[in-house]
Amino acid sequence: MLLRSRGVVAGLAAAAAFVTGVVGCGQHQDSCYGPTNKVEHVRHVKRMQPGAPGAAYGPKGPLEWGQVNFLHTTDTHGWLEGHLKEQNYGADWGDFVSFSRRMKHTARSMGVDLLLVDTGDLHDGNGVSDATTPDGTKSMPIFSEIDYDLLTIGNHELYVTEVAYQMFNEYARKWGDRYVTSNVKVLNQTTGQYEYVGATHRYFTTAKGLRIMAFGVLFDFTGNSNASQVLKAKDMVKESWFADALASKQPVDMFVLFGHNPVRQTDRASTFQTVVDAIRRAHAKTPVQIFGGHSHIRDFSVYDDASVAIESGRYCETLGWVSVSGFDASNSGFRGVVPNPRGVRNPSRPARPGSRSPFVYSRRYLDWNRKTFIYHSRVGGGEGEFDYHSGERVTGDIGKVRDELRLGDVYGCAPQDWCISCAPFTDKKKNIFPGVIFPAVSAVVLNKTRADRSRMILGNTGAIRFDLHKGPFTYDDNFIVAPFRDVFLYIPDVPFDKASKVIDQLNKGPVSKRRDLVSMPVPEDECTNPTLGYMSRRDIREERGVVRRQEAVVPGYVTKDDWGTDGDDTEHSEIPNYTIPPYWEARASFPKDGSNPDKVDLIFFDFIKTKVLNDLGAGYTDDMVQCYVNCSFSSQDFMLPYAKLAWQENKDNCPVV
Ligand SMILES: [Zn+2]
Ligand SMILES: [Zn+2]
Repeated sequence: MLLRSRGVVAGLAAAAAFVTGVVGCGQHQDSCYGPTNKVEHVRHVKRMQPGAPGAAYGPKGPLEWGQVNFLHTTDTHGWLEGHLKEQNYGADWGDFVSFSRRMKHTARSMGVDLLLVDTGDLHDGNGVSDATTPDGTKSMPIFSEIDYDLLTIGNHELYVTEVAYQMFNEYARKWGDRYVTSNVKVLNQTTGQYEYVGATHRYFTTAKGLRIMAFGVLFDFTGNSNASQVLKAKDMVKESWFADALASKQPVDMFVLFGHNPVRQTDRASTFQTVVDAIRRAHAKTPVQIFGGHSHIRDFSVYDDASVAIESGRYCETLGWVSVSGFDASNSGFRGVVPNPRGVRNPSRPARPGSRSPFVYSRRYLDWNRKTFIYHSRVGGGEGEFDYHSGERVTGDIGKVRDELRLGDVYGCAPQDWCISCAPFTDKKKNIFPGVIFPAVSAVVLNKTRADRSRMILGNTGAIRFDLHKGPFTYDDNFIVAPFRDVFLYIPDVPFDKASKVIDQLNKGPVSKRRDLVSMPVPEDECTNPTLGYMSRRDIREERGVVRRQEAVVPGYVTKDDWGTDGDDTEHSEIPNYTIPPYWEARASFPKDGSNPDKVDLIFFDFIKTKVLNDLGAGYTDDMVQCYVNCSFSSQDFMLPYAKLAWQENKDNCPVV
């Protein structure tokens, strides 16, 4: 179903196949958006999820291929469909299947190695992963279609017990020793023992003979359910298996240290330095190649002359590229066939000026779109030669899942864009909090028996995960904006003077509060690199995502890292980025005359209950807290009713331009 086409004739066949694919979504085609779009769009958009916009502006130059090369994904959070409303990131997981296979093929023909690495957080952020119970039931088989060489676990695999068991019982077995979880154990329900989810480490030899020792290290996460245990990095490096791995007589040409763990040493969540120090005590000069994640940014950080680290963004917006050369018999014993592949550019940059190490590197952050994938796979015939059947099949599978889960069902027509951080937190016109979230929770989060009471609603900004785009607001968008199931709790009749102080205390709390965010179900995930373009991006898109080809720099990542500003594969114009507070407050049913009520119902996510009670102080205890609407109504349940309430205009003919 939803076959990819290789030419006009095949395209018609694909269109015919597509008709049957439409059935699952809504009663009328007009009420669907995304892959189940109108048939004529299949003709225009031959690949990706139909309806997803193509990139207008492409890579600035070919990649530098070295003796060993890496493609890195992280924090995909279920975005396997790609970004249906954003042209920079329109490719889907099927396109990535084709691209990764093409790149492996290219590496083989050059006589060099290419390794695929993922660093976790596979759920919470998109309907494909989150509209099932448990999360990931439909998305994980699709994610697993990539032939990764190394995978490791993220904190989002450990919040929900069923998800932790899913990883332990299914995917750890499926991925075998390629799944490396050096400091994470999950309860084996059969034996009653906590056991490593995957391998503690992996020693392997690449196709070209490079000997690699890999460790997969999650940051010191503490917000996990009791189905798992996370060893702190400082304790992990004292484990006997770790000491044995470093003392092994087997030759190691390169250490790969990868983990759901920020690469920036100054990020308080990062524990990579602890592990690098431990490796360096035993191996002073062996290259340590680092791959990180969790903070959702593009970043590249130099640890020492022979150790560099890349972090590759989030949400299938970025594919990270690193290449390394310099291995030879004198420095590592490696006797691979080529010092450098010919006919292409090679890595040439030492980790830092004055390096005494023989190793040289390149790094690049690729935009996640077909234009990029086709350019770098160097297929002469372009579009027509790019796709593999396996990639096309995966694209079809994603379309089927979207149909089954009815992710394209339209609930309203959002009249404009609203962003999380491209405008000040107080900007009602552009910022999603005053523009959408406050009116939505004020209108929808309501216990009818207490409708006459003034109320204040508190939440953490991290619960809102993505910007809201102009156009059809679908079932999928509900998960994209608010994927978590944080139940609304409340304390009735709190004196206004007390309740109104809580928001400031939450936001101005002790510095350690910021650190606490790391271990919350909504981790910090703060973006120092805003990724979304606004307004100007719309200019180059036609209705329903079909793109007019034109070469123009569009808003997106403008990355500054330890090597400067030349890491982005595609040039973007910078998007403003404003700091937003960790918590928000909305008010409803306040006196019409503008005065303050004596008392309010104080409503908040279950997730911040302890903090709210702390800030209310003496006299406020757990037993005063009740469910507000009911004990299942959560942060996943207010956006769809709000779309039905506020955005019905043009619903059946909703423009995205
Ligand atoms: Zn993440
Ligand atoms: Zn994370």
